[in-house]
Amino acid sequence: MTDNLRHDWTIEDVENLFQQPFNDLVFQAQLAHREHFNPNRVQVSTLLSIKTGACPEDCKYCPQSGHYNTGLDKEKLMEVRKVLEEARHAKSSGATRFCMGAAWKNPPAKDMPYIFEMVKGVKELGLETCMTLGMLNEEQANQLAEAGLDYYNHNLDTSPEFYGNIITTRTFSDRMDTLSHVRESGMNVCSGGIVGLGETVRDRAAMLIELANLPKHPESVPINMLVRVAGTPLENVDAVDGIEFVRTIAVAKILMPSSNVRLSAGRENMSDELQALAFLAGANSIFLGDKLLTTPNPKESDDRQLFDKLGINMDDTVEETSEQDMEEFARNCPLREQDTEQYYDAMKAS
Ligand code: SF4
Repeated sequence: MTDNLRHDWTIEDVENLFQQPFNDLVFQAQLAHREHFNPNRVQVSTLLSIKTGACPEDCKYCPQSGHYNTGLDKEKLMEVRKVLEEARHAKSSGATRFCMGAAWKNPPAKDMPYIFEMVKGVKELGLETCMTLGMLNEEQANQLAEAGLDYYNHNLDTSPEFYGNIITTRTFSDRMDTLSHVRESGMNVCSGGIVGLGETVRDRAAMLIELANLPKHPESVPINMLVRVAGTPLENVDAVDGIEFVRTIAVAKILMPSSNVRLSAGRENMSDELQALAFLAGANSIFLGDKLLTTPNPKESDDRQLFDKLGINMDDTVEETSEQDMEEFARNCPLREQDTEQYYDAMKAS
């Protein structure tokens, strides 16, 4: 590959990564992360539901599916004016990307003109744009790219083998088709999965391999911890172990080191310490704001406090950290500045 990244991972390779001692795995992920990013910066997006509920799909984790009774208020497509108000607010809170999600199987043709208006309006505010609208055909992907949409989110959720246990109204290959239309259209790809659906470690490995072995890695890889919502079929599934969750983040970073790995849904139930471990394992992106589509997210003030404690800055560059930033980081990194008893500069020594 021309990008010098691996795209030929096998299930054995990735299972072996998962089985490493935790410290070795996290250390390896942190090293991979530092090759591509400033480790003390986190990219911040805000996510808004622009059309809520009554989705014809039957994703077993989702409160917006019309198949389950979760007591969620359904809402039609939000007015463009209202969406832009929310985007302005997100920008003033420090977000660099504004993500808009609609609970659709595919975006209906009649709504596309409004969608294009939203993309244009949000971009004019100086924010990056991302949308998640369900499956896209080639034409729709091209139209969204022409409207200026920067990112399209379409999660794989889980492995091809486990997929039918979670969703029956579409197939794993439908999902891959949309990802390929998005990539071909020139938009950036945002795609990840969910931990805690009742899947095995092998399923987590298989899901990450599907992403890492794409011809080009997704620019953004959200790793979600299942939020167990009452009324969904997964409301009583066993909670996922925090350490196992961090292992998934670390493996995602090792497989796709130049991608932004997003610590996504489920943060509300995570301690500061668990989130800190996830950042150490290479997560470098979050959603800011107290709601993620329809489920709760930590308060903005709590996130700012956590970032202060960890010495993390919100990324205002939106892109992968620049060479200049990396040089500055290298200059300030104590392990690189001077040798100590425990560490020495192998480059200087060779
Ligand atoms: S996850 Fe998306 S596609 Fe699935 S039911 Fe929810 S809104 Fe619909």
